[in-house]
Amino acid sequence: MRYLRELRPDPTRLIQEKMAVAEELYTLWGESFLRDPEIPELLEHYRQAVEHSNRTMEQAGTFRECYLCTVEEGQGCCKIGLENECTVLILLLNRLLGVELPREREVPGRCFFVGPLGCKILARPMLCRDYFCRRHYARIPEKTMARVTAVLNQELVLLYRITSLIRARLEFWTGDFLQELDLTGYT
Ligand code: SF4
Ligand code: SF4
Repeated sequence: MRYLRELRPDPTRLIQEKMAVAEELYTLWGESFLRDPEIPELLEHYRQAVEHSNRTMEQAGTFRECYLCTVEEGQGCCKIGLENECTVLILLLNRLLGVELPREREVPGRCFFVGPLGCKILARPMLCRDYFCRRHYARIPEKTMARVTAVLNQELVLLYRITSLIRARLEFWTGDFLQELDLTGYT
């Protein structure tokens, strides 16, 4: 993972490098993960937690504000480089959830994972899920935002548990020190 060590890595090459590592790990260990005594159940809980968060944000109106900001006003905050909030473990988690990772950046100047219908990955890093700007706090009641945050926390705790377990399994199976799987690779 050469680019993980560069001070100012090209964001596209960096995410492609991380995706190549995740893809290789998926090819080698995907079946073992899916036969594991704990991981399949956690994957299902995580998927349900993401759906619960999405329903809660839809009802609260946070998605609508992001849609207006991004599509109607041409702003939005899924900028180029943010894809590298995804660690190798998060990319591997997406593969275990059945997500096909894109090969190219579809929208110039935007995150590698932006598509016509929004974000293309299911397991997203904390920054993507738990970031709300002033617009949300100005337009959505505080109590509603508190509820959104509480529901998101359940998803994010599961994200931490599952990526920690994936990492622990890989360390046990390979005997390697896999710290780089947890790095974003940029600052
Ligand atoms: S979080 Fe704020 S800046 Fe980002 S897309 Fe949503 S409304 Fe726009
Ligand atoms: S939500 Fe998806 S598209 Fe937006 S920055 Fe995060 S990973 Fe990229």
